[in-house]
Amino acid sequence: MLPHLMFNDAYTKQIEEDIYERTVEKSASGTKIVGIYCAFTPRELIAAAGAVPVALCSGSEESFQAAEAHLPANLCPLIKSSYGHAVADSCPYFHMTDFLLADATCDGKKKMFELLNRIKPLHLLQLPQTASTPESIDYWENELRKAASLLEERTGNPITESNLKKQIKLYNRLRITTEAVFKLNTGDIPLVYGVEIDNIIGSGGFEVDIENRIADIEKAIQTVKDRAESDQKDVFLNNMKKRPKILLTGCPSTNKKVLHLIENLGGVVVAMETCGGLKSAGTLIDETIEPIRALAEGSLKIPCACMTPNTKRVDLIGNIIDEYRVDGVVELIWDACHTYNVESFQIQEAVNNKFDSPYLKIKTDYSQNDVGQLETRIEAFLEMLNL
Ligand code: SF4
Ligand code: SF4
Repeated sequence: MLPHLMFNDAYTKQIEEDIYERTVEKSASGTKIVGIYCAFTPRELIAAAGAVPVALCSGSEESFQAAEAHLPANLCPLIKSSYGHAVADSCPYFHMTDFLLADATCDGKKKMFELLNRIKPLHLLQLPQTASTPESIDYWENELRKAASLLEERTGNPITESNLKKQIKLYNRLRITTEAVFKLNTGDIPLVYGVEIDNIIGSGGFEVDIENRIADIEKAIQTVKDRAESDQKDVFLNNMKKRPKILLTGCPSTNKKVLHLIENLGGVVVAMETCGGLKSAGTLIDETIEPIRALAEGSLKIPCACMTPNTKRVDLIGNIIDEYRVDGVVELIWDACHTYNVESFQIQEAVNNKFDSPYLKIKTDYSQNDVGQLETRIEAFLEMLNL
């Protein structure tokens, strides 16, 4: 157990139970529930149509057996987990969804979505493969306009410009508040464990009431600040001071195995360059221009490995290393994720040579089979950072 841990699994469980109840109420009152799988999906559009977006990426291995009846066993665990829950009907959120809005990202996900479409109606947004060129933004804007029409048709609610602008403002506030949790770690001594950050912000993908989510996160930020001023502050801060500061990057950290190992072995994950973390929290949507154009421009700034080239990711990692005074970078690669695995060569090169930081690549799945081996490697990495 980490010393002075305040935001643990029990905290998250309580929040998730509240969110679940609110989602059930919404669904029962006729609000459409829309399942999504990616940071590129415009949650603002869904909310502007009076529907609720719920993130269905999954982090448990319980559903693998069901998934492997249709999918190859050596597929990314994230894809198997999501699909397995759908096919076995073991995810209450998936069960509640009226339809799915997904994005054509990596090969495994795209092909899995074809099968998912047999279980629930699924609209696939044809995400461009190149970010932020004028042509790709025009193309993505057109895809978002098609999605807006579909949402209007399925919900029976028109998406007005003022409604959409209101949602963009709200989700921008959620991003800013999420980033503020990470920013607690930009000082010389970090103030919050990565495990706590994950517990504080992790439910953002499900929340039906964003104002409520923002208020909860703000409350948590204050609690973290209070801990650093409390009677026990010296013991807490001395402990934090000794921990090497780690940036966790790579695949979405849907399963928490590696995050927990780093901190249980004496490090502190001060920042996460993942799509639930700083990859998307730092990407605001322009509130001053036509809103669908703004969504197209803004969402394509997310530096995901699905894009080619993806140079913005290296820039983001460099900025985080500076801003969070990072001692070492750990890159998490899920087994069979070629997208992030191939890109990891360039990431390691930039981290070592351009940013002069140590780098460790962890390739794993959701099982506990390799925990002993991972412990040895992470422990050696943290010891090296402490020299
Ligand atoms: S890593 Fe990329 S493709 Fe995967 S969920 Fe995040 S943004 Fe989407
Ligand atoms: S982790 Fe990799 S393989 Fe898995 S869904 Fe994301 S991009 Fe695709």
